[in-house]
Amino acid sequence: MKCAFCEKQVVYVRQYDKLAVCSKHFNEQMIKRVQRTITKHKMLKRDDKVAVGVSGGKDSIALLDILAKIESDFPESEIVAITIDEGIAEYRDEGMLYAQKIVKKLDIEHHVYSFKNDFGYELDEIIKKLGERGEGREFGACSYCGILRRKILNQAALEIGADVVLTGHNLEDEAETILLNIIRGDIQRLARLNPTPRKIHKNLVPRAKPFRNTPQAEIVMYCYLNDLEYQEIQCPYAVEAYRGEVREFIFNTQEKQPMLSFNILRGNEKLLKMIQQTPSKKELKDCTICGEATTGEFCKGCWLKNQLSSSRN
Ligand code: SF4
Ligand code: ZN
Repeated sequence: MKCAFCEKQVVYVRQYDKLAVCSKHFNEQMIKRVQRTITKHKMLKRDDKVAVGVSGGKDSIALLDILAKIESDFPESEIVAITIDEGIAEYRDEGMLYAQKIVKKLDIEHHVYSFKNDFGYELDEIIKKLGERGEGREFGACSYCGILRRKILNQAALEIGADVVLTGHNLEDEAETILLNIIRGDIQRLARLNPTPRKIHKNLVPRAKPFRNTPQAEIVMYCYLNDLEYQEIQCPYAVEAYRGEVREFIFNTQEKQPMLSFNILRGNEKLLKMIQQTPSKKELKDCTICGEATTGEFCKGCWLKNQLSSSRN
């Protein structure tokens, strides 16, 4: 079969529109879609200092590679990479290695932060201290991990002086988050999933997801075609996540309805326009302990620290 744009052999057929492309045109389409997503949702300004969260997984590695290509057209902008070491034995080291490899290859400044240095505990220690889920521990490991990762990534971006933080969340990740918020009835959070980064608190660096329209399968293909190495093993705590079931539903349904995730995203964008309920500055206060943005008295990071110091283990 021939590429839709040239005479070369097809390497990939897009599931949702059956577009068949050669490797050169596959890469071109990937980069174009990221550019379109950035433009459509006003994710970047020409002279932004852009911090990219790089875990060493396929999404963040591919995103960094594509952003470096796009950035070559914007000499006033700058990209830096941030990797956060959560402190997960037999897992994090490998991801770190791939993160280091890609930043070296692309010659990008790399900043490494860790739960241990910046919070005082590794994730493994937190889980050990809080005990089994359902007994001493209220939530799955990913909840604690997510709270701290967001907090430390934000602190890192503030320290570095970044204008915006980009993460590698892809189309299905975004569809999953939307569905989870619906399942939980958390409409507040659904309304906050605005694709356009905004400064809603002085200590909160705006975030955006340039891969929100890119299917996971295409990211895997991009890594393969561009010889990008990434961590493939799953985090040992991933089995605790409720997300897994929603994820399974999305991928299973998508086999029959390839537009599923796109439809979920589009639906949410329409909803956002209808309610136009963007969080006002009034809603967010300063955490009374660390000053980070919070809707309550303390931020979740400080809440967790308090839990850990009062735990008896
Ligand atoms: Fe953290 Fe959960 Fe991801 Fe593991 S799977 S790195 S615990 S969020
Ligand atoms: Zn082609």
